[in-house]
Amino acid sequence: MSIVVVGSVALDSVETPFGRVDRALGGAATYFSTAASLYTQVQMVGVIGDDFPQTHVDFLQTRGVDIRGLQRKAGQTFHWAGRYDYDNLNNAQTLDTQLGLFASFDPRLPDEYRAADCVFLANIDPVLQLKVLEQVRQPKLKVLDSMNFWIESNKAKLTEVISKVDVVLMNEGEALQYGETFSLITAARKILGLGPKVLLAKKGEYGAALFADKTYFFAPAYPLEVVKDPTGAGDTFAGGFLGYLASAGDYSLAAMKRAVLHGSAMASFTIEDYSIDRLRTLTLADIEQRVQQFAHFTNPEGNLPFEGLVLARELTTDD
Ligand code: AMP
Repeated sequence: MSIVVVGSVALDSVETPFGRVDRALGGAATYFSTAASLYTQVQMVGVIGDDFPQTHVDFLQTRGVDIRGLQRKAGQTFHWAGRYDYDNLNNAQTLDTQLGLFASFDPRLPDEYRAADCVFLANIDPVLQLKVLEQVRQPKLKVLDSMNFWIESNKAKLTEVISKVDVVLMNEGEALQYGETFSLITAARKILGLGPKVLLAKKGEYGAALFADKTYFFAPAYPLEVVKDPTGAGDTFAGGFLGYLASAGDYSLAAMKRAVLHGSAMASFTIEDYSIDRLRTLTLADIEQRVQQFAHFTNPEGNLPFEGLVLARELTTDD
C-alpha cells in the first residue's frame, strides 16, 4: 500500500527552553515521510533548493521513500524559524517563514504516484493541495492537515479542499478557529457537515480526539519525562496514523481508533529529540511497545507500573 504526501521539505531553525538547532532537516512532508515509511511505501512531492544538503536526500532514500516527485531547483529551500516557551510547549511561535522555492511551487505527480492508496495533504497552500488531489486516481483515503495561516488567508479554498477529503487533521485551536467557535464539538459538527467522515483534533500533550458520525474516541498523549523539541509532532502523528492504516489496508473506524494510538506513540518519540533525529533509529517494535502501554494506563483494570514509563524511555533513547 502506498501513500502520496505533498508538503514542505524544509530547513528549520528551532529554539526551545532546552537548546536550539539551526537549519536542521524539517518540513511537514519530511516528518510525515520519516514516520510513515516505517510502515509502508511513501511517495513524496515537494521542492528543495541547491542549499539543501544531499545527506538529507540520502537519508530519505535509505528509508525507502520514493523521491521522484521531489523537485530540486536553483534557489532557496523553504525555511521556518520557530520558538517554544516553557509555558506553551504545545504551540510554536513562528519567528520567520521564508517560502523560497515554495512560493512558485507547482506540484507534479510522477505517473507512478497516481495509483496511490492514500494521500496526505500536509499543511500547505490549499490551492496546491487541490492540485495534488486532481492528479491522483482513486485513493482509498484522503487526509488533510492545515494551520491558522491558511484559515486566515484562504478559508474559501481550504473549505473546498476539506469538502473533498475523508479525514481532517488539525490542532484543536485551529479547528476552533476554522469553526469560529469555542466548542470543539461545534467545530467538529461544522467540519463533518462539509463532507469528511472524520475530524482528528490534536491537543498536544493532552492527546487527540477523533470525531465521526456517532463516534467519539480520545487517546491521551504518551507521558514523557524528556521533551526536547515539539516540532513535527503533528506531522509524525499523521505519519503513524496513516502509515498504520495503509499497511493494514483497513480504513474502518475501528482501525482508525487503533491508528490514533500509533500516531500518538509516534509523536511521543519525535519530541524526545531535535529534528527527525529520534526517528532515525526508531523501530516498529518501539512504537508497538508504547501502543500496548496505552491499553494499560487507560484501563482501570490494567496495571502499568510508574517505573514502566521511565523504563520505556530509558530503553529507547540514547540520553
Ligand atoms: P508540526 O508537525 O505542526 O510541528 O510542523 C512542523 C513543520 O512545519 C516544520 O518542520 C516547518 O518546516 C513546517 N512549517 C511551518 N510553517 C509552515 C507553513 N506555513 N507551510 C508549510 N510548512 C510549514
